[in-house]
Amino acid sequence: MTELKGEKRSSKTSSKSLQTSAEEYEFGGPVGVSLMMLGFPCLMYYFWFSLNYHQGKLFYPASLEDVLPFFNRLNQYFWDSAAPTTFGFAVYSIYAVLSAFLTAILPGPRIEGLPIPSEGGKTLWYTCNGVTYLYSLIPFSFALHYFNIFRLTEIIDHFGEIMTAAIVWGFVVTFTTYFLTVTFGKPHRLSGSFIYDVFMGATLNPRLGPLDLKMWAEIRVPWVVLFYISVSCAVKQYELNGYVSSTQAFMVVAHFLYVNACQKGEECIPTTWDIFYEKWGFMLIFWNLAGVPFTYCISSIYLYKMGPVQWSTTYTVFCYVLLLAAYYAWDTTNSQKNKFRMQMRGNYLPRWTFPQLPWSVLKNPRYIKTEQGGCLLTDGWYRYARKFHYTADLFMALSWGLITGFTSFLPYFYLSFFIVVLVHRVTRDNERCAKKYGKDWEKYVKTVPHIFIPYVF
Ligand code: NDP
Repeated sequence: MTELKGEKRSSKTSSKSLQTSAEEYEFGGPVGVSLMMLGFPCLMYYFWFSLNYHQGKLFYPASLEDVLPFFNRLNQYFWDSAAPTTFGFAVYSIYAVLSAFLTAILPGPRIEGLPIPSEGGKTLWYTCNGVTYLYSLIPFSFALHYFNIFRLTEIIDHFGEIMTAAIVWGFVVTFTTYFLTVTFGKPHRLSGSFIYDVFMGATLNPRLGPLDLKMWAEIRVPWVVLFYISVSCAVKQYELNGYVSSTQAFMVVAHFLYVNACQKGEECIPTTWDIFYEKWGFMLIFWNLAGVPFTYCISSIYLYKMGPVQWSTTYTVFCYVLLLAAYYAWDTTNSQKNKFRMQMRGNYLPRWTFPQLPWSVLKNPRYIKTEQGGCLLTDGWYRYARKFHYTADLFMALSWGLITGFTSFLPYFYLSFFIVVLVHRVTRDNERCAKKYGKDWEKYVKTVPHIFIPYVF
């Protein structure tokens, strides 16, 4: 095992105020978060019913008189295609427990997280075994499929049931974590509103022995489950038609790229905003355990339900090129900043995880040394825009929609939702960084004036 040197204490605990200050309401406060907690699961069911019963089209009551029958139909859809079952719970729970167990025991390089101000500057260590995990899981799961122990097609055949299990897991883990933290633990930055604190979370870095729950939920569940939903659709299509269409294969490639990126660059994650600052509440727990895998998969299910969809070679090649080009920009932008930060801290460790793309690491880049101690990169992609990785991520999301054609809005839901999420994230991040870096942030914004599109916006 390789130990990486930790964060230099020079960055000190200067974000102390951010860590310990009382919580200010975001997301519309208690009312807004209550609506989100009720709305997310409803939306997930609505999408599933649309895909399963309405060819992915939006459906609604035909008239005022149809409102009650409409809800009766939804109720029937639920019991027919998403009711809780032992099988659904077994599939999801076995995966959740197995992934947690393997994450806790597999070897990998170790990296030290940022000092936690509320813990007196204490740091936590993270074992980065994502690549070992993913590359063991894929052959293992195909062996289960081949020997008929667990057919991968079961995932799409029992999609609604498994999604219900994920939703229940999301709520149970959220409330259990909250109550355990306020009863026995050390709550962080509580607002005083019960529902708001459940949504944002009470605990910062919950651990079960060697298992960091937030890291596990962030990268071992959502993207892996998402990838397997797409694989399941492709395998099912193969069984039904004897081949996998170029469009269905596209989604497997797209989701493989995403899940692989999260595992291969895992050493960069402990210092991200989600791990360092966000608490582990409904927002992260539910979205990671249920929301991401069961809504970001819409394009895969849409394509599977429509039967093997093939476009002209030119259009298909265009979609693939868009995906790969956006992936390249996304991967290298994230990599340039994260590796720059690790180099400045003295804990950079070159890794040979696949793929290491050209221009991932900058040599002698330009940057702004801040009074706070940290450094802001102004070179590479960061010379042109402050959030170019968000733009690239959005183009990947666009390609996930384009590959399905233009007959339904649903495959474009992810793109639409993601635009809202990322614009909100930019605002939050900008406010936080302006507070943290003061005048140096102003200088940075002047040096790199554009956010998403170089020379434009
Ligand atoms: P960023 O990777 O942009 O990280 C923001 C932080 O990086 C800032 O708070 C600051 O932290 C530091 N920073 C900002 N600019 C610079 C700079 N020029 N030089 C050095 N450090 C800088 O944001 P996210 O964590 O939101 O996103 C990471 C990736 O995850 C993105 O590619 C995004 O698209 C993706 N993502 C995907 C989601 C999905 O659902 N698919 C959801 C959310 C994100 P500090 O205070 O430590 O300096």
